[in-house]
Amino acid sequence: MLRPESLDLQFLEVLDQRAALTGLEKNQLQRSVRGYQGELQLDQLVATFFGHADLVCDDLTLQFKDELAQIDKLVLVGNTVYLLDAKNYRGSYTFKQNSWYSGQRLLATNIFRQIDRACDLLQQIFQAEGLQLTVQRVLLFMDPQVKLDIQQQAVQQVLRYSEIPNWLTKLKREAEIYPAISLASYRRALAKYAAPAYRPEQDFAARADQTLRPGICCPHCCHFDWSFDRYTVSCRRCGFCQSKELAYVSTICDYGVLYFKHNLKRKELLRFLGEGGKEKYLRRQLSRHFEQIGFSKSHAGYKNYGLRFKYWFAGQEQYFEDTEKRCRWKK
Ligand SMILES: [Zn+2]
Repeated sequence: MLRPESLDLQFLEVLDQRAALTGLEKNQLQRSVRGYQGELQLDQLVATFFGHADLVCDDLTLQFKDELAQIDKLVLVGNTVYLLDAKNYRGSYTFKQNSWYSGQRLLATNIFRQIDRACDLLQQIFQAEGLQLTVQRVLLFMDPQVKLDIQQQAVQQVLRYSEIPNWLTKLKREAEIYPAISLASYRRALAKYAAPAYRPEQDFAARADQTLRPGICCPHCCHFDWSFDRYTVSCRRCGFCQSKELAYVSTICDYGVLYFKHNLKRKELLRFLGEGGKEKYLRRQLSRHFEQIGFSKSHAGYKNYGLRFKYWFAGQEQYFEDTEKRCRWKK
């Protein structure tokens, strides 16, 4: 399965469709999209040049005591754990006197900070679990255009985009010579210290002064203007047609992403669906696809996973693809 977008990114994407982002949020969204693309690129390179999916762990959030660390990718070869951190930065970077510079400007946040923290945490976990594993930090610059000037030796390995295929090919050969001895206990340790993925502190309910655009957002043109049929909805702007079922369910998911701290409530969902929303149809979709919490009279609502449709309903693609046939019935 494709690596999921971070919860932060999913939140900003949905927010961007329905509210005006602040300058800060726009930057954050751009950075997150770029970062995510870099991670996907790295996934692809590792799958192509290293393979051995059983030795690769992706997208981990680990907790040891009060410390949390997010990890892009781990690769186990022999008794070495390669801790991979993909940076999809643009521009030119220099590492000298233990500091990073972007152009001439000293960076307040050392580019190694994230990988160093993750390394400390991993080592503590391995020690606590009695695993004899060495952690090797590898920072990978994913933009082929980026200019790098590394003026001193560092314990962290730094790779340019063009160097990654060769490095992975070498690693693959090593993996074939040195079997991963403690693979099972290593995986057990990672599972034991896994933490829920990072979320923003507040959901949209905290923003009392901001309003949201209600309705079903067209996945093709991002407009909200639909004509409704019995089983389908068609975008009046771009002509895109989807089953009414998918349109409702994915809009409910988007609501869930924005209000990730709250259960799903039918009345609020109806408001969120906008003028095209029909209570009877919504009721049917909720009971078909969502998990009711408590008894029906308690009004507690439905369980909210706070994920976009493609992640919330992963594994049910075929069902929803079949509902798309309803668009062809019409013609
Ligand atoms: Zn459209």
